[in-house]
Order: sequence, then C-alpha cells, then structure tokens
Amino acid sequence: MTLKTKKEQESWENFVKTLKVNLPVPSHTWVDALAPAVPIFENTDEIFLIKSNQTFGIDYLQKKHLKQIEESFFEATNLKRPVRFVHDATLKIKKKQPKQTTEEKQHEQTAIKMENLAQMHSFCGLNLKYTFENFIVGENSKFAYKIAQMIAEKPGQEKYNPFFISGSVGLGKTHLMQAIGHKILRNFPNLKIRYTKAEEFGNKLIETLNTCKNPADLNERMRKFRDMHRNVDVLLIDDIQWIEGKKRTEEEIFNTFDALYHAGKQIVFASDRPLSAFELIPDRLRSRFEWGIEANIKVPDLQTRIEIVKNYAKMSDFPISDEVAELLAKEFDTNIRELEGAYNKASALASIDEVELNTENTKEYLKLSERKKRYNMKDILSICAKYFNVDIDDILSTARAKEVVNARKYAIYFARELMELSYPELAREFKKNHTTIMYQHDKLKSEIKTNRAMQIIVDEILELLKR
Ligand code: ADP
Ligand code: MG
Repeated sequence: MTLKTKKEQESWENFVKTLKVNLPVPSHTWVDALAPAVPIFENTDEIFLIKSNQTFGIDYLQKKHLKQIEESFFEATNLKRPVRFVHDATLKIKKKQPKQTTEEKQHEQTAIKMENLAQMHSFCGLNLKYTFENFIVGENSKFAYKIAQMIAEKPGQEKYNPFFISGSVGLGKTHLMQAIGHKILRNFPNLKIRYTKAEEFGNKLIETLNTCKNPADLNERMRKFRDMHRNVDVLLIDDIQWIEGKKRTEEEIFNTFDALYHAGKQIVFASDRPLSAFELIPDRLRSRFEWGIEANIKVPDLQTRIEIVKNYAKMSDFPISDEVAELLAKEFDTNIRELEGAYNKASALASIDEVELNTENTKEYLKLSERKKRYNMKDILSICAKYFNVDIDDILSTARAKEVVNARKYAIYFARELMELSYPELAREFKKNHTTIMYQHDKLKSEIKTNRAMQIIVDEILELLKR
C-alpha cells in the first residue's frame, strides 16, 4: 500500500467518495477498481498517479471524466495536480460478488425449462420470422445488414456499440434488429437478450414510479425494472424516437446505456428518423448514440421489392407469378409492411375464390385503380390552404408571403407524392413553370428527411388528407 499515514488513507477515501458524487453512477464500477499509485502528500507538484487493473476503465475515465476527476481530487485534498492513470494487471481490488437477482434466477430457471429454442426466442421478445435468412438485402440495406451480422458474430465491440439503425416506417429496422437477437441466441446460447420498444420501456418506468407510494417499495420496484434492462448482454431498443422530449425516460435510457456500455454489453437502437433529425434530446444522450455507428435503411429499389414479396409469398405458401410480384412491388413502393399487407389481402381473397393470382384479379382485389384516385387536387389544395391559414387562390398566385409559400410547397409535394402527377401536369395545376415545380418538390423532399419540424407538418397534413 502506497498510503503510509492515516491521513493519507483518509484523503484517498475522501477522494473516491467525492469522485462518486461527481460522476454518474454507471462509472462507479471503474472508480471501485482504482488504487493510489504514488503518495498523495509528497511535497512536490508532480502528477498524481492512480493505478487500476482495468484498461478499459482507465481509458474511459481519462477520456470522459478527467476534468471531474481532477476537480474531485482538489475538492478532497486541496491539492491542485494533474491526475493520470497507470495500468497494473496484478492489482487485486476487493470486489463484492454481485448477488444473483430474482430476475437472473428466473431467467436461468426459465432457460433450463425451455424445451426448444423457439420458446427462448419469444421469451426474449423476439418474433421468429425476423431472421437474417428471411431478410432480403438490397443496396438500400447492405450497410446496415453487414454491421448487424458483425454484431451478431461478436456483440459488444466498441466500434459498433451502440448500433443505431434508422430509416422510415416499414423498411425492416425491427426485422434487422431482431435478426441480431436470433443469431446471438444461436451463436451464444448463454447470453441474455432483451428486446423492447422504447414506448414499452417508458410506460413501464412511469407505471413503476407512479404506483409506488412508499419509498421502500419504490426502491424495490425500480431495482426490478433496472435489473430487467441492465442484467442483459444485448439490449435491443426499438422505436427510440419515442423518448424524445420525455425527460424521465431519456434519463433512464441514459443511465441504462451507461451501465451496459461500460460493462461491454451490446446496445442496438432502431429509429424512424436519423440521429441528425433528433432535435430535442439532451446533448449527453445524443453523444452516447453517436459513440458507435449509425446505418440508415432506405427504400428498396424495384428489384429488391420484387424479391422481398416473392420471398414472402414463398414463406406464406401461396406462390405468385413474377408478373404479380412486379405489379405489387411497383404499386407499393415506399413501405414493405404495406407491400406484405397487399400480398396478404390479395392472396387471402384469391384462396377464398379458389383461384390463382394474376395481374387482373390482383388489381381488382386490391382496388388498385381507386388507390391513386383517393387523393385529389381539390382536397390537397384546400387542406394545405387551411393548414397554413391562407386562401387557395394565393397558393395558385405568385404571392410570396411566407405562409403562402409554405402552403404552396407542401401542396406541390403532396400532389406529386400522392397523385403521382408528372411535372408538366403539376405545372398546369399550380399555374407555374414546370422546372420551378420540380425544384420546389425536390427541395422539400430532401429537407423533410432531416428536418423534424417539417416531418411533423407532413404527418399532420397527411392525417387531415386521409380523413
Ligand atoms: P420497421 O421496423 O422499419 O418499421 P419492420 O422491420 O417491421 O419495419 O418491417 C416491416 C415488414 O417488412 C416486416 O414484416 C419485415 O419482415 C418486412 N421486411 C422489411 N424489410 C425486409 C427485407 N429487406 N427483407 C424481408 N422482409 C422485410
Ligand atoms: Mg419497427
């Protein structure tokens, strides 16, 4: 022991205590692995060295918390010195053996009882259909797929932790994140995996906080809640965008993240918008999300969509011809869930009628000719005008008032997206030059991808249009 006097010993203890007050709870594991390396009260202004047997812990504390560490050192000892770390593998730190929690025991017992892997998968919250084998990779998802596979081979690697999968609705984010879970279960049957939706996480948290009146109860229930999400090797949190602006849930996600990350556990998030479009989350949480890697899944091209629906049909035991697959893939071009839904509906109706699907009856079953007509220019103009509180005539004029310009650009966007009018057709409708229309449409479309406020406007107008 380097500390010779009782006073030195006390100072060290004081420092550790202060450090724990100043650092977030998840970092305490690393603090517990520290030991003094040089006498604190040597009468020089040399650096103060601390030993640890944890290389990752050293690296992490130095990188993330050096300022707080030096401040805590000053607070505790009144000595202003740079603090540095050295690795000492021989160092034995007394560590309390964590007691097995009820959840852990339960998990173990359940695992033993499980008769087959299928039960195990659903115990972790995984849907059996969402495997790598059933995922059709295209240019749109190649990068996300590759990283997902690497994580499944070796979960917890720093460069892919956390893995943030983004992409709009129905493009396979949940599928891919669950595929990671399935593969890990197969590769490493002893690892504990938990899949949860952010909303479920948040609701459970609030329920726990709200239903407990007495503090002892609350502590116990919070401990259970935390065990459930922190005593795992792989945590998959879906639809993470839900937490934005929900302070208590954000805080809990932050602490859960830190606890898992520092223990080298793998975290995967899925979100229907890219990280760059998160506007409200606190910076410290955003920076955590950015520590690992983000992969964005885009809309698959026609060929990939054809393959997806053909594969789906094969699994569903109601085969379809290439022509029908192509028709469906052309018609349902932005959301795979809708594409599958269309196949389900058409194949169900065809099997009732005891016929095979062809392009003719598919069009009828799905009422495809009516689909495009569902939206019309009049509704789009009147809803956009109402939304921005302007007159339809203003939209069709050359007026430049801000609200009019807004109403006009969203109206152009929806007319193009929902009615699939060509640019010359749009130009006639809006009484504008067709290059102006094209420019406005493309500009808005690309802005929406990263601008949260604009996405909300699009969603709200769409809701009004659907009524
Ligand atoms: P998201 O979570 O992005 O909203 P999902 O993962 O729920 O989307 O996917 C919606 C449906 O589409 C699921 O049934 C999923 O199996 C299917 N799907 C999406 N992408 C693919 C793909 N590349 N290959 C096969 N099925 C896919
Ligand atoms: Mg999803």
